[in-house]
Amino acid sequence: MTTTPTRITHLLNGVPWEGTAERTSPVFNPATGEQTGELDLASAALVDEVVTHAHEAWASGWGSISLAKRTQVLFRFRELLNERKEDIAALITAEHGKVLSDALGEVTRGLEVAEFACGIPHLMKGGFTENASTKVDVYSIRQSLGVVAVISPFNFPAMVPLWFVPVAIACGNAVVIKPSEKDPSAVNAVAELWTEAGLPDGILSVVHGDKEAVDAFLTHPQVKAVSFVGSTPIAKYVYETGTAHGKRVQALGGAKNHMLVLPDADLDLAADAAVNAGFGSAGERCMAISALLAVDTIADELIEKIKDRVGKLVTGDGTRGCDMGPLVTAQHRDKVTSYLDAGTQAGATLVIDGREGDVDADADGYFLKPTLFDHVTTDMSIYQDEIFGPVLSVLRVKTYDEALALINANPYGNGTAIFTNDGGAARRFQNEVEVGMIGVNVPIPVPMAYYSFGGWKNSLFGDTHAHGMEGVHFFTRGKVVTSRWLDPSHGGLELGFPQNV
Ligand code: NAD
Repeated sequence: MTTTPTRITHLLNGVPWEGTAERTSPVFNPATGEQTGELDLASAALVDEVVTHAHEAWASGWGSISLAKRTQVLFRFRELLNERKEDIAALITAEHGKVLSDALGEVTRGLEVAEFACGIPHLMKGGFTENASTKVDVYSIRQSLGVVAVISPFNFPAMVPLWFVPVAIACGNAVVIKPSEKDPSAVNAVAELWTEAGLPDGILSVVHGDKEAVDAFLTHPQVKAVSFVGSTPIAKYVYETGTAHGKRVQALGGAKNHMLVLPDADLDLAADAAVNAGFGSAGERCMAISALLAVDTIADELIEKIKDRVGKLVTGDGTRGCDMGPLVTAQHRDKVTSYLDAGTQAGATLVIDGREGDVDADADGYFLKPTLFDHVTTDMSIYQDEIFGPVLSVLRVKTYDEALALINANPYGNGTAIFTNDGGAARRFQNEVEVGMIGVNVPIPVPMAYYSFGGWKNSLFGDTHAHGMEGVHFFTRGKVVTSRWLDPSHGGLELGFPQNV
């Protein structure tokens, strides 16, 4: 049975846009292949209208409203998100495809950023130095920027916007979000909660769109900052274009994450971790493990353990209690599948072929089951490219040093993990590896909200990571005040450069 696709549109001031879009884009349920939505795509003119309105809303008070009042909205938002997290998770599964438990996990990690932002009065405290010079005090304050744009990828439709939006709003900014065109509904649902929580009109808007909308944000004079997450080529483009237009930009890009297993590791723990981090969310995580570096002496045993575990996984419709869902679109599934032939042709051993076997779903879903390659080498495209699917490659190494050199030579530096029972080796690894987020016997080391999330090298353009204190810093600008009160004898006329006395 086919249903008529629902119109999905921009959310301005908490209400759906009533205009008519010149361009639209289809939204699918990846588990069934059915088109469920038709998404309005914004023109540059609409982006201009929304940004102008957001700027007016910011200028008329949110940036200068008391922290007590801002915090009340944040606490209410936190409560509403917690109450509705199952509904948001269902929307994610329906458009992204990830299984419900995974979708709920994503919302929960986003919720933690809202909880962090509730502490904004503490986080925005400045410094104060009494008597820096005689009867002269110096203090620092941080103020909001104005309008900031958040441009997010398909793979975490709720969590990635939540990395930025609560912190940006808590810092006193107005925010416009441009979600991925592939799974836009979760963001609309979360934005409605902000309105319900009492956020004033214009402080948060959702504008759907593609390159035209993104370019309009990157060049708009009233957009002061851009937080972007997506693939490396687009992240680089966003960083270069946004900064060329005078904005501060943090642009988080793609990844190729390595997991190193040393011979003394607990191999059951390592096998669980490799399967969870390799195939969770069908490998469509920027922190997914896609390259497993196994020291030769334990590689065969580890691969056997991984095979056992993969054999027990059920792939299928994310609403049916399966372990792994479909890929996001038919095109992406086909692209990921093409790497199975590429890997075999390049000489890798296809240990588990994800094209074989049944799935628990409709035939038209975009499925590829977990795939495992062995004897992968660094010259192969299955190693070099970010496949972003359920394809795990084993590279055999002889030593720790060989593994470290291999990881550090990779152009990406998002996440990595080491599995070992040797504290000294782990400590060396965390010190020597050129990667932003590191797990020690932890496969997906996504930092807590009160730390910051971000990679190195081609995994992040800009110098500021997401959320934590780096987020507060990104969404504010500093002022330092030097003041003198109650001192009539200020020294009289003196044109020399002031010296502290
Ligand atoms: P993508 O780069 O295709 O899209 C990201 C955003 O950019 C979307 O909102 C999209 O509409 C927009 N966009 C796409 N093409 C554009 C263009 N030519 N000009 C301007 N804007 C454009 O990424 P995706 O496929 O949605 O997401 C997957 C990618 O995101 C992967 O590479 C993954 O590693 C990465 N990612 C990184 C992190 C991180 O923290 N580093 C987190 C999540 C995802």
